[in-house]
Amino acid sequence: MDFNLTDNQQMYMDTVQKFVKNEMLPDVMKLEREHAFPRHIIDKAWEIGLLNLSIPESVKGYEVDIVSTALIVKELSYGDSGVSTSAMCNDLANVVIAQYGTEDQKEAFLRPFVEAPIISSFCLTEPGAGSDNMAMTTFMRKSADGKYILNGEKSFITNASYASQFTVFCKVGNPGSLMMACVIIPYDSIYNGEIVSQPFDAREITVPGGGTVITGKPEDKLGQRLSNTATVKFEDVVIEDHQIVGNRRLGFKYAIEVLDYARPMVAAIGVGLAKRALDVTLEYTKERKQFGHRICDMPVARDTLVEMWKKVELADLALMKAAFKVQEGADDRGMYASMAKNVAAEAALFCTKEGLHLHGGYGFMSEYEISKLARDAQIIDIYEGVREVQDMIIGRELV
Ligand SMILES: Cc1cc2nc3c(=O)[nH]c(=O)nc-3n(C[C@H](O)[C@H](O)[C@H](O)COP(=O)(O)OP(=O)(O)OC[C@H]3O[C@@H](n4cnc5c(N)ncnc54)[C@H](O)[C@@H]3O)c2cc1C
Repeated sequence: MDFNLTDNQQMYMDTVQKFVKNEMLPDVMKLEREHAFPRHIIDKAWEIGLLNLSIPESVKGYEVDIVSTALIVKELSYGDSGVSTSAMCNDLANVVIAQYGTEDQKEAFLRPFVEAPIISSFCLTEPGAGSDNMAMTTFMRKSADGKYILNGEKSFITNASYASQFTVFCKVGNPGSLMMACVIIPYDSIYNGEIVSQPFDAREITVPGGGTVITGKPEDKLGQRLSNTATVKFEDVVIEDHQIVGNRRLGFKYAIEVLDYARPMVAAIGVGLAKRALDVTLEYTKERKQFGHRICDMPVARDTLVEMWKKVELADLALMKAAFKVQEGADDRGMYASMAKNVAAEAALFCTKEGLHLHGGYGFMSEYEISKLARDAQIIDIYEGVREVQDMIIGRELV
């Protein structure tokens, strides 16, 4: 076993750390206050190759392995976990095409991401189907001309207001069907190269092949305000055979595979965020003096810093093991992905809560980054499957 980074990984780390330091950290607090979607950051991240990490060599010309992807997402999240959530969402939406799409589908649905900094959405969750994805009611039925017609509504969809393509999981035949499919809905890019402040209005898109996609007004969120989240409604959207990924009965299996890939990435987001909380707290407690001593030199406060450091390091180890298992396609990758996600969420929540505490009253002021990090951390425990669902997956595997 080797914990050294390869030359390629080191190059990625240098690039992303420089990007975070120069392009993200100086602006994130201001952008977050404005609740702005950081289009210019996404564009620059795309330019230097930090986006679309799951696109295969056959389309992009090179490939990034999963351990390297986890390292990149972790470093990006050190800058801002909303930006990394938006960036990672392209892979969440596209990895199913990379894994199960035909070569023609890869050309049609992945190539545009190599050519322009467009973004996509992964549409699984519904108002009545969160943890229980099989309860979804969005469905497609066959029409007289042999094409499918898709109807339904998805909720909490990352990037929805700006997405140029939607990856949608839906039932086949009727809303109560046991068959689930995965379909791709591309349409013309709405990219305009500008930073668009939220709230960005709801939008109605006429899909070229027929039907309408309506994205709701962006959600006003507690944290991760640099990522965009909105509902997506599909009204009589025509789906042709070439838009169906893989077998139209195996969508649920594909969703599970995608989530196995994505959970280490959410763990990476949690580790990056936890590390940032540790670093801003170290910086603050090295400066601030009370009772004639730096806060970091007072024994009980230092114990807290040590606990924070241990949580970050252990979560990082769990992340690396999960990324390695997923990369190897190990049979037990699911339980390691779930474990890493939970351990990283715990680290993010612990480090932001205790970090805020060590800032005293200043931590409660929104101008201090730790207060933003504390809000951002809440979602790590929820999206891509709540903590209890991860434990359910681990428990099932164990027994
Ligand atoms: C900012 C944000 C971005 C998101 N992005 C996306 C996206 O891009 N695409 C997408 O498809 N979805 C997305 N989601 C949805 C997210 O994945 C769901 O919110 C999450 O899976 C939980 O579903 P729910 O909100 O319906 O909660 P529920 O399923 O209603 O769960 C509520 C609570 O019930 C308890 N609970 C649920 N199930 C169990 C169980 N089996 N055992 C014990 N207790 C349980 C837990 O305490 C849980 O927190 C996003 C959500 C947010 C907030």
